[in-house]
Amino acid sequence: MRTDADYAAELDRADPLAQFRERFYLPEGGLYFDGNSLGLLSRDAEAAVLRMLDEWKTLGIEGWLGAPNPWYYLGESLGKLSAPLLGAEPDEVVVTGTTTTNLHALVATFYQPTGARRKIVATALDFPSDLYALRSQIALRGGDPAADLILVGSRDGRTVEEEDLIAALDGTTALLLLPSVLYRSGQLFDLARLTRAAHERGAIIGLDCCHSIGAIPHHFDDWGVDFACWCNYKYLNNGPGGTAGLYVNRRHFGRTPGLAGWWGSHKERQFDMATGFDGAPDAGAWQISTIQTLSAAPLQGSLAIFAEAGIAAVREKSLRLTRYLIDLIEATGLTAAPYGYGIGTPRDEARRGGHVAVEHAEGPQIVRALKVRGVVPDFRPPNVIRLAPIALYTSYSDVWQLVRHLRAIIDGREHEAFAATRDLVA
Ligand SMILES: *Cc1c(COP(=O)(O)O)cnc(C)c1O
Repeated sequence: MRTDADYAAELDRADPLAQFRERFYLPEGGLYFDGNSLGLLSRDAEAAVLRMLDEWKTLGIEGWLGAPNPWYYLGESLGKLSAPLLGAEPDEVVVTGTTTTNLHALVATFYQPTGARRKIVATALDFPSDLYALRSQIALRGGDPAADLILVGSRDGRTVEEEDLIAALDGTTALLLLPSVLYRSGQLFDLARLTRAAHERGAIIGLDCCHSIGAIPHHFDDWGVDFACWCNYKYLNNGPGGTAGLYVNRRHFGRTPGLAGWWGSHKERQFDMATGFDGAPDAGAWQISTIQTLSAAPLQGSLAIFAEAGIAAVREKSLRLTRYLIDLIEATGLTAAPYGYGIGTPRDEARRGGHVAVEHAEGPQIVRALKVRGVVPDFRPPNVIRLAPIALYTSYSDVWQLVRHLRAIIDGREHEAFAATRDLVA
């Protein structure tokens, strides 16, 4: 492959998504590779927040019904705009809450241990918050988390084999709860296959799509997934702690939510203030509290960008960027001595999410040296430097520069100046 900077510039000139870069605030003179953890602010999202502030300023409480995009229906209207990213119908998606609270609300509904069918199957490489939620849900049902939560292990410490997940499913499985993409290695699961396997064994399947929404197309309805949740602040650029989303397959509409709140009421009757819960006939029923309008507002701008760019084009460029990053690291000798970088992400495109896990024994020190050089990666213990080139705002030339920095740090032994500790927020 060509490893020269001119080639990167050629790829940039041929990039059909290149014009979206100027819609984002990029760090001046720096390189941002952490959009898988916190996506950058777009001008569109900024304008949407300012619009929301202005509505509050001028309309006060009248904004609930009187704003151009009435706040009362904001969770539903943003759900409708999110639906194409998920392969869902508009009424199966709602923007509400946060990832972990949505996961709680969904598991509290769909985890119904009965008889011998009491186990939840997840992976040993899951994002910790999901495991904390699953254990507490088992305990709330009177179960024993140590016995009822089955964590399927990894053979190589990076990935989990689908065969192993499927082998863990049997007549005792009530729920299979999986991330679409593993947060550390970036492994993408075959979600159609796993959904089929769960259903064949009589289990419910729920997905956490934090690391795939906005990076990868989903086909929830075609796959037949039962429920899903995700955050919007990673690849969807909704801002730190921004409002999250959930999906409920329409075959479950009408079920009583496990964690009910008034915002899940039928919209026409919510303000009747009846003492009995009268739920919305769709996924809206799983909302708990009043929509956080200021934390949801950026999505209005962000989703407009995705509608313009198209998720298929985003995925195509994302795969090219991650492939380019992996190939460049290998072709320039960085996986050999004295550099010692490793690639922890599957090479197979069907198994790769939106980021690349670059492994190095001195990962924390290298991350610090990268930051001094104006490059923003993140770090996940024990040795993973996560690097996410983002289709909407990262160029091939950025990736080329990044690889140059990875080499220069080792050449100059710059990382040796730092202690082997990570920042509090890494
Ligand atoms: C980012 C992420 C979370 C974060 O949860 P919050 O409730 O938004 O703090 C949870 N689960 C996974 C898999 C994630 O990637």
